Amino acid sequence: MNRCSFCNRSADDVDTLVAGAGVYICNDCVALSADIIKSKPAGPKRTTPVWEGVDDDALLAHLPRIDAIRHQVDDDLRSWVGEARRRGMSWDRIGEALGMRRQSAWERFS
Ligand SMILES: [Zn+2]
Repeated sequence: MNRCSFCNRSADDVDTLVAGAGVYICNDCVALSADIIKSKPAGPKRTTPVWEGVDDDALLAHLPRIDAIRHQVDDDLRSWVGEARRRGMSWDRIGEALGMRRQSAWERFS
């Protein structure tokens, strides 16, 4: 079951789940993001890490969410590679697209 990569709610728990490249965002997170962008103060773009101001417990609680998203991204990549194989694409082409050797692509995805 796909989950929102931002709030971790499942597709069943949201109205809409929009797919990206291995990640998903729900309608509520899109609305929240739009509010954040609208209320963004003028000035230089922030490049500081998101963990600035996050306490230790919140930081630890965030780790399994990132790990779950990593698995979701891996599953999505695996299914796209599966579709490439179903279409008859060679391991050479798939490996080249991923910046790896044919053998590495085959070992990882076959
Ligand atoms: Zn969400």
